[in-house]
Amino acid sequence: MDGTALARRTTEETAAEAARVLERTGTAPCLATVLVGEDPASVTYVRMKRRRCEQAGIRSKHVPLPATVTTAELVDTVTALSEDPGVHGILLQHPVGPHIDERAAFEAISPAKDVDGVTMHSFAAMGFGLPGFASCTPAGIMRLLAEYEVDLTGKHAVVVGRSAILGKPAGMLLLGRDATVTYCHSRTTDLSRHLREADVLIAAVGRPRFIRGEDLKPGAVVIDAGYNEGNVGDVDFASASTRASLITPVPGGVGPMTIAVLLEQTVHAARTQLGL
Ligand code: NAP
Repeated sequence: MDGTALARRTTEETAAEAARVLERTGTAPCLATVLVGEDPASVTYVRMKRRRCEQAGIRSKHVPLPATVTTAELVDTVTALSEDPGVHGILLQHPVGPHIDERAAFEAISPAKDVDGVTMHSFAAMGFGLPGFASCTPAGIMRLLAEYEVDLTGKHAVVVGRSAILGKPAGMLLLGRDATVTYCHSRTTDLSRHLREADVLIAAVGRPRFIRGEDLKPGAVVIDAGYNEGNVGDVDFASASTRASLITPVPGGVGPMTIAVLLEQTVHAARTQLGL
């Protein structure tokens, strides 16, 4: 499943929409990126997201903060961005450091600007199936499944991982599309039995090549959301691709779709806030 190609097409549409917003209002959509500290992976992610924004005609306002920032200072910064009419979307790069109350910082993002889908409001909207901004990676996964016309109704979807930004919302979105969902995590006993029963497998573990071809049901659809050191996913692509009917590569699968959804949601947020 070619995430790079789908992300390119999605972002072309987003860029056209951003240009229409600018033409009609005189204002370009704007994403604020908040980065705490200088974790190399986070610096790279934020730089990549800002570059993609620029390519799509989305302004980005970068707010770097020292690693020593307090929860109160971070909350104040995010609150100011939530109230700034020139900012339409807010991305607070995770992780923010162990001394910070991350939930408090995320909740300072106004739901109208939560284009990364990290607030409790967005999470609840996803759960209820109501309009709201989805978590970008799970939403990107759903786009890939839709693009390849994977029928989810009644299918057994197994999600390995239950993080709040990835595994848990991915399962919620699959459930919303009538899949029968099993969550697996570090305390799951007999993981291999669940893997063998998966029609659709979402790997969101954070362990390089953790799932191998022999673990899979023949013909399974495999989505590898993992991104580990050395540019490797959670699935061993070489062995899994001989068994799966569809599989996402790493890189070039879920990763590009995550950014494409972020940009798309930023332009949607701008449209709404500018009254279009
Ligand atoms: P995370 O918060 O560390 O969660 C990992 C999950 O995997 C946890 O739920 C954990 O279970 C589970 N797990 C760990 N060891 C396991 C085992 N042996 N068997 C079964 N489950 C196990 O990680 P995350 O933020 O969700 O990220 C997961 C991966 O996705 C990482 O590689 C990350 O880089 C990647 N990612 C990619 C994107 C993208 O845009 N492509 C975005 C976000 C994340 P417990 O809950 O029991 O601890």
